[in-house]
Amino acid sequence: MSEDIFITEERIEGADDGPLAGKTVAVKDNISTEGVRTTCGSKMLDEYVPPYDATVVSRLKEAGATIVGKANMDEFGMGTTTETSYFGETDNPAAPGHVPGGSSGGSAAAVAAGEADLALGSDTGGSVRCPAAFCGVVGIKPTYGLVSRYGLVAYGNSLEQIGPFGETVEDAAALLDVIAGSDERDATTREAGDDANYADAATGDVDGLQIGIPTELLEGADEGVVETFWDAIDDLEDKGASYHEVSLPSVEHAVEAYYVIAMSEASSNLARFDGVRYGHSGGYDGNWNETFAKAREEGFGDEVKRRILLGTYALSAGYHDKYYKKAQDARAWVKQDFDEALSEADVLASPTMPVPPFELGESLDDPLKLYLADANTVPVNLADLPAISVPAGETDGLPVGLQLVGPAFGEERLIRAASALA
Ligand code: GLN
Repeated sequence: MSEDIFITEERIEGADDGPLAGKTVAVKDNISTEGVRTTCGSKMLDEYVPPYDATVVSRLKEAGATIVGKANMDEFGMGTTTETSYFGETDNPAAPGHVPGGSSGGSAAAVAAGEADLALGSDTGGSVRCPAAFCGVVGIKPTYGLVSRYGLVAYGNSLEQIGPFGETVEDAAALLDVIAGSDERDATTREAGDDANYADAATGDVDGLQIGIPTELLEGADEGVVETFWDAIDDLEDKGASYHEVSLPSVEHAVEAYYVIAMSEASSNLARFDGVRYGHSGGYDGNWNETFAKAREEGFGDEVKRRILLGTYALSAGYHDKYYKKAQDARAWVKQDFDEALSEADVLASPTMPVPPFELGESLDDPLKLYLADANTVPVNLADLPAISVPAGETDGLPVGLQLVGPAFGEERLIRAASALA
């Protein structure tokens, strides 16, 4: 089992004591670990060994955790199934024969299989919440700026955050306690999480909680997923919460806006992988243009190439206003809609994924189908807000996740509400 979960299985021992002493953690392979290979699931970085730790890794070590391996992922975080990894696909321990979700599929699978107590992933458009939902575990996408991205290999840096996985809400919250907080090495971090106590928030108290349900996030979702979602909402109602419908009209443009922004940022971020500054080298044969082209042709997989091409196109002179600027306008609209909806409710609830886990291989040739499966997760990244995915039940034996979204730096509220379901 561990072979398809971990790319590198090397134990990194943390301090002798601390809040995570005795706990094992799997770390997504786009998070830098000093002296231990960090591949991003790509041939491009097959042999890359970082000379420093990401801030979150230093914090894990100080907290006494033992890192048990670098977890498999979609290449450079680009995917929803963990099938685009250069190192092969990861099976879903909760639903064998199905994808574990992506892009942090190895991290979620490690927790679901009991290979690690906890795990770290990164979420640019759903990559913590999707695999949490598909593998039947808990995943948190923190507010933009709560967790340092220093040492995270960037995919779409205006959208992404490192987030924790656990078998329970309390476990994931305890890991968030360790990694959250400002960092002088990442100027986008805020001090909001410095004094928070997330694990203590997992009280399960939802008495008086007002849940807003955005009708747009139920449209087009699988029937069994929607039924399971309503069962979980009924459960929260029995425990003292109430719900009403809200509307997020802008989310119909969120997937398009997300993909234009994410691919544009990716095309710029991945320019450094040319075989000279970073990454796989195809060898120098007297012509630098051909040397760079060969390194990138050999080093990147098809999905990464598709995104670099589309992102470069969206940013190019003449198209910038038509695509990139328009996507930024849509992003502002999405943010505004969330602010309004959250002024009428404490949290917003939806299915995390509109579909249950795909069978392995089922969606490989259909990128559009995969992009559309991100409909409920990407709006949250566009709005910079926090969200949690918690197991809601099953449909036909396949795990279904419930997503709760809160106001900026409202993680404690999400943890309190989600812990009522566990
Ligand atoms: N599925 C989305 C994408 O492919 C999300 C990826 C992520 O959050 N890293 O871009």
